[in-house]
Amino acid sequence: MTATNSKSQLLSLIFSKDGLLSRALKNFEERIGQKEMAEKILEAYENDAIALIEAGTGTGKSLAYLVPAVYWALKHQEKTVITTNTIALQEQLLHKDIPFLLKTMDIEIKACLVKGMGNYLCLRKLQELQDQPLLFSTEETKEVQAVERWTEKTTEGSRSDIPFPVAPATWEKVGAEAESCNHVKCPHYKNCFFFKARRQAADSQLLIVNHHLLLADIEKRRRNPTQESILPPYQRLIVDEAHNLEDIALESFAQRFDRVAILRLLARLYSETHPERSRTTLLRQELSVLQIIPPRLLQKLDSDIPAQKRNCQAALETAFAHLIQFFDTGSKETKKRITDAIVESPFWKETIIGDLNTLAEELQRLSQMLKGVLDDLEEFEKASFYEKLSFHIMEVQAIIQRLELMAAFLEQFTLDEPKEKRVRWFETAGTNVALVDAALDISSFLNEHLFSQQRTSVLCSATIATARSFSFLKKRLGLVEHEAKTKEEIFESPFNYAERTLFVVPTDLPLPSSPDFLEECTKTMHSAIEISRGSVFLLFTSYDMLQSCYRALSQSEISTRYPFLKQGDLSRHLLLEQFKKKEGSVLFATDSFWEGVDVPGEALRCVVIAKLPFSVPSDPLYEAYAQSLEKEGLDPFSDYSVPQAVIKFKQGFGRLMRKKDDRGCVLCLDHRIVKKNYGKQFLKSLPATQTCFAPKEEAFKQMRLFYERTKKRL
Ligand code: SF4
Repeated sequence: MTATNSKSQLLSLIFSKDGLLSRALKNFEERIGQKEMAEKILEAYENDAIALIEAGTGTGKSLAYLVPAVYWALKHQEKTVITTNTIALQEQLLHKDIPFLLKTMDIEIKACLVKGMGNYLCLRKLQELQDQPLLFSTEETKEVQAVERWTEKTTEGSRSDIPFPVAPATWEKVGAEAESCNHVKCPHYKNCFFFKARRQAADSQLLIVNHHLLLADIEKRRRNPTQESILPPYQRLIVDEAHNLEDIALESFAQRFDRVAILRLLARLYSETHPERSRTTLLRQELSVLQIIPPRLLQKLDSDIPAQKRNCQAALETAFAHLIQFFDTGSKETKKRITDAIVESPFWKETIIGDLNTLAEELQRLSQMLKGVLDDLEEFEKASFYEKLSFHIMEVQAIIQRLELMAAFLEQFTLDEPKEKRVRWFETAGTNVALVDAALDISSFLNEHLFSQQRTSVLCSATIATARSFSFLKKRLGLVEHEAKTKEEIFESPFNYAERTLFVVPTDLPLPSSPDFLEECTKTMHSAIEISRGSVFLLFTSYDMLQSCYRALSQSEISTRYPFLKQGDLSRHLLLEQFKKKEGSVLFATDSFWEGVDVPGEALRCVVIAKLPFSVPSDPLYEAYAQSLEKEGLDPFSDYSVPQAVIKFKQGFGRLMRKKDDRGCVLCLDHRIVKKNYGKQFLKSLPATQTCFAPKEEAFKQMRLFYERTKKRL
């Protein structure tokens, strides 16, 4: 193929029934939606426009956007950044779709996966640990030795390529980080894995990233517009799995003050349990080449810094103990919004604010002490051993930077009035506790710093429209400003839903708010498992409900006939592997299994959705956003909760049909979907499937008939 092919020639050459794809793929079927989608995207490239595309499962959307991106790279030598939410999709693009397409089109284009700095091994840190074995415990030493052996073989130095587990605490000691990186001044710069990857990215036309990295890049550009950012300059963007972009943006830009993170940082500086691994001890050892260490430096390293570290730790524990007492969280995992009423309460004003201010002051004091140490070390700048000191100096600089960020966070957090459109909360998760300050609305940020900077933006997913409208997505992502240059398209799935799926809603179950709901749900799930003979996903909206149903069904003899699997018992990857391997499995799952999970074929014949997936009303982000919508005269339920739940519901529904020959039932136990007015938005968003909205006995009968009928056609 040459760059001179016209648009329509190119697309026919690739997608038509006797085109390049048909020759390269054994079971190729021409998919009109795929070719049309590629056409729309190419138009968006040509017209510097925005394309919003919902492409149903099976459209072949990745090839539909890769072809225009490749064509543009070839014809105009312009880069395209392709961002996705899941690693699985990034790997599919990089290792399967792109090589296949380039081979089929007989062209050469460079493509690479760009990862964040923290994913790469830092050769400087590794060298330091070789010089300082005391930095690690026995367990860590074993891990680090394995990492050293792996370093000799790896060409990429990326954590995800390490074929054995490495504990987060170990990786923190050997992973690259911006704060302690000396860039070109680092003796390892030439061979540095991270900078090699950056040079490769600069040289590539297709850059595959995840949403987190995309957002980190725009934030870095915003803060330092004149400095090099994470990604090389680009003006063509494809956002796949675009329905996740807003949530990832809210999460990425939330600022956290996390107890465990600060304790780890303080331990890096000085550890009472392992003084030999403390930065202060290591520095002192390095200085032992001097006949006399300046007494003021000695005083700081031996006593002032360890004492100040203890002050910080004490202030931290006092503050969090008072927060736990104030919010009365006990050992529960919870999020408590810091409302105006809380800020006005005497305990908050007199105790909590005092604690947080003290903590900020202690952190600042520690930071000042460390700066004093760096000033003292400057004295040795010309000494021969200074090279060795430079490692420690970079580490101390990194610690100072983090301490100052944390102190600044606390100062901001203690202000009476939070910034507009922000929400603050206190959360407990496992043994960790944290204060969080997050934006409520990310739309103007994305508009200004992402979409306004691009000549072309393509946003696609199998689930971004609600009731066939893109209004919700456009508002939440700040795309309304670009209405004039935005084109919207929905491409239906080529799968035959009308023949191969049955959507069932038993209309005589109690409402989710009823005390009988749980028991009736469990019984209905039991029947569904029997009727489909297992191979069922049971999707819940809360872990509590999942546990209750799991407990009840595990006590029934049905659990002896069908293998039960429960989210949380194994990693997601292993759970799925077991599910596919064990005939008739039943998986009890929540959040992360509603999307991005592929179980094609007879291994998954039935999906049960316990409740419509509305946000929890007490979630701080939801609560604060709902209030801000009310202030604007909008209805938070219909303008926010419903569209958000529709998108999630479509994701859950979409687990069933992954290949054209799949078949099965989706059973929704929450009959508000057919009885409430807003239910129409859910129904209108689903593919054209067979339906049965009837009392449960009739619903079960229809399910049995459906399985019998479709079995004959397998
Ligand atoms: S350049 Fe930075 S990331 Fe690379 S080895 Fe040196 S310190 Fe580590």
